[in-house]
Amino acid sequence: MEVLYSSTRNGEPKFTASQAILKGLADDGGLFVPDHIPALSCSMRDLSGKSYQEVAYEVMKLFFTDFTEEELKNCIERAYDSKFDTEEIAPLVEAEGTYYLELFHGATIAFKDMALSILPHLMITSAKKNQVENEIVILTATSGDTGKAALAGFAGVEGTKIIVFYPKNGVSPIQERQMVTQKGDNTFVVGIRGNFDDAQTGVKALFNDRELAQEMAAAGLQFSSANSINIGRLVPQVVYYVYAYAKLFQEERIAEGEKINVVVPTGNFGNILAAFYARQMGVPIGKLICASNENKVLYDFFATGTYDRNREFVLTTSPSMDILISSNLERLIYRIAGEDAQKNAALMDSLARTGVYEITEQMREQLADFYGNYADEAETAGRIRQMYENTGYVLDTHTAVASAVYQKYRESSKDETVTVIASTASPFKFTRSVMNAIDGKYDAMSDFELVDELARIGRLDVPNAIAEIRTAPVVHDNICDKTEMKAVVKHFLGVDA
Ligand SMILES: *Cc1c(COP(=O)(O)O)cnc(C)c1O
Repeated sequence: MEVLYSSTRNGEPKFTASQAILKGLADDGGLFVPDHIPALSCSMRDLSGKSYQEVAYEVMKLFFTDFTEEELKNCIERAYDSKFDTEEIAPLVEAEGTYYLELFHGATIAFKDMALSILPHLMITSAKKNQVENEIVILTATSGDTGKAALAGFAGVEGTKIIVFYPKNGVSPIQERQMVTQKGDNTFVVGIRGNFDDAQTGVKALFNDRELAQEMAAAGLQFSSANSINIGRLVPQVVYYVYAYAKLFQEERIAEGEKINVVVPTGNFGNILAAFYARQMGVPIGKLICASNENKVLYDFFATGTYDRNREFVLTTSPSMDILISSNLERLIYRIAGEDAQKNAALMDSLARTGVYEITEQMREQLADFYGNYADEAETAGRIRQMYENTGYVLDTHTAVASAVYQKYRESSKDETVTVIASTASPFKFTRSVMNAIDGKYDAMSDFELVDELARIGRLDVPNAIAEIRTAPVVHDNICDKTEMKAVVKHFLGVDA
């Protein structure tokens, strides 16, 4: 059955999957949601024998119904290939009797690769299907992780260009090196003198600049966004929950139909929403455990029914979860509001005006299967150290937040259900915080010394993503003021004549 997409803030009109992927965000500011969540059309027994790529096809074909089999398989093959350092793509690793679903084996060793390696292919296929002749220019502001994952995904993809702005002094040395060594003629990386908000605000202004849009159109170019609210990023994330369940079943860790719990270290609410969608498709998932760091807006929301972003923003060692507005939560709100776009729009309007909204008792009842909690900085570091001492397995800071929250859940609930924890980054991505958690003595070492030390004590190979940047030449050395962003973009695109 065909799946069409509409905005969470307006039930009509409906778009095909390829149109929704191209647009990213709806014109009214809402997020695209499927008009129904399709049920899996294959039994777990059948799925359990399939490769990651085959499971990806079984899941995506149900959501992206206007793609042909050939188009979709082509996108999947180009995305999940030798860019990943394991054929399994998303291996499950058991530690302390719990399963860590490692989502960090792609080009940039963080889970954003799972979706950003396929989004470029979905996007150019969507452009072709909709007779869009323009070249797609991805414009993005990054606080570190997304920028590199988007660069790696779009680099060398014909029919696209990508421009990334990052705060010159606001990312880690490894993150900066990862970006400025990015190869590919269609990539452009610029450090701005300012913070992440300046970069973000500047990018938004460029997206809304009508004059620039016209100049670009005349040159055969148009902007698009690789933002995590794109449905083309959400659906590929559903795949690994289906895959993980099928693997557990295949390895006889669970019986047919047995429920599992899922724990997700959460920021923008995209990853955990994908788990929620997997469950709606028929994957037997019990609790959805939402783990936050000290920016615990979501914990408070699940505890009280009030979402309140008016609070101090805390910088933590799990920076990809330092978020006060979890954009993808809107899709869940829409759903528990009975898919009532008006009702959802009113809540989002309240969020925009006052920073707060409150859901009804009736809506809260539908959140019974979510459990929210958080881990502070000491608990997170303690979890990394304890896991290392118990098992030798090294968690990154984000995964450690999830692991610590899972301990709290298990202690209070006594729930012994088989559990999968989404492991969202390699410890090599956040080496300094990880090593400091294991032992204070590492503080004096340089970032690259720490990489070697982590490889030694964790008995791990240094991932390619890190090994590469040690020797790779810097190819982007652009720095600008926030007022110069437009001029810099026009120059790169050759529309400044
Ligand atoms: C982006 C990110 C998260 C948060 O994921 P959301 O989908 O935004 O909730 C968690 N961990 C890491 C390492 C990330 O890069």
